[in-house]
Amino acid sequence: MSQPLIDKYGRTIEYVRMAITDRCNLRCYYCMPECGIDFVKRRELLSYEELERLMAIMAGMGVHKVRITGGEPLVRKGSPEFMERLKATEGVESMHLTTNATLTYPHIDRLAEMGLSSVNISLDTLDEARFLAITKREGLDQVLASIDAFLEKGIRVKLNMVVMYGVNDMDIASMLELARNKPIEVRLIEEMPFNGSSHDLKPHWNFRKLEESIAMNFPELQKDEMFPGATAYTFSDDSWKGNVGIIAAFSRTFCGTCNRLRITPTGQLKVCLYDNGVLDLRELLRDGSTDAEIEARIRAVVAAKPKDGFEAEKLAETSGEHRESMATIGG
Ligand code: SAM
Ligand code: SF4
Repeated sequence: MSQPLIDKYGRTIEYVRMAITDRCNLRCYYCMPECGIDFVKRRELLSYEELERLMAIMAGMGVHKVRITGGEPLVRKGSPEFMERLKATEGVESMHLTTNATLTYPHIDRLAEMGLSSVNISLDTLDEARFLAITKREGLDQVLASIDAFLEKGIRVKLNMVVMYGVNDMDIASMLELARNKPIEVRLIEEMPFNGSSHDLKPHWNFRKLEESIAMNFPELQKDEMFPGATAYTFSDDSWKGNVGIIAAFSRTFCGTCNRLRITPTGQLKVCLYDNGVLDLRELLRDGSTDAEIEARIRAVVAAKPKDGFEAEKLAETSGEHRESMATIGG
């Protein structure tokens, strides 16, 4: 391995999130409008070969953890085979997947065999009618079956619930109950303004209100120590099989220990969720740049990584106005 990737605040970057498509079979209210978004053309996507080359370059700089996300990663043809190859890259120690879990069930044996470490599953309610209202599609049964199958295979499961005022906040307690009886982490996420302009954000459920809700409904749960690099802070109790977490994604309380990079489906490198893309990797991959040249460019943008999401937003001059969908970023 060459020198590790370290930014000017001393944060070591060792984790990359690759969004391999912006397409999705669902239309979650908080992510994209029902009519979809302006999906990118296939040739504009990074190919699997290009992503594998990038992984090898990054692994050489100490990026040892990779998460595959999207859009919905399982809608891209060949994604399980791609993940298998990526996992075999020298220097990659762990592979993770973020998915809506409506299409995963037939692939779970394969994902277990390739050594998938954990899966984050978007699930915002256990109520069938509200699942349909939020995602605009059927699929709750497939999600629940996949959760149990992942657990049977010994793959760690986290559930991501975006909490929305008047939409699914009545489901907080029933979602958290899942963690009492199953060894899973249920994470309550603040809604962010990346919804492809489907609606204006009403940031009512901030992390403080979420904490109050946990304390009121489940007083036995106690706050755990936070791991550096984690975005969720968790609560647990010995009588519970799993635990619960809060992700202050909009309030941005965790930037101080950020250890991650993001690659968008079209190959923009993001050093912060709130930047607009700081390096066009696709251009470098296609203009004959060598691995060493790409490495140097990545090092330069990482060195200049903003202190936190507020600074990144200011530099991107978005002033809080985000028109893109989370499906074009990867979450
Ligand atoms: N399709 C996969 C899924 O839903 O898990 C992966 C991509 S999705 C964009 C990644 C994560 O982003 C999901 O956990 C989803 O809940 C979260 N997400 C999407 N839009 C969001 C928003 N506006 N605010 C907060 N989280 C959001
Ligand atoms: Fe699709 Fe995931 Fe966005 Fe929902 S959150 S629309 S499942 S990409």
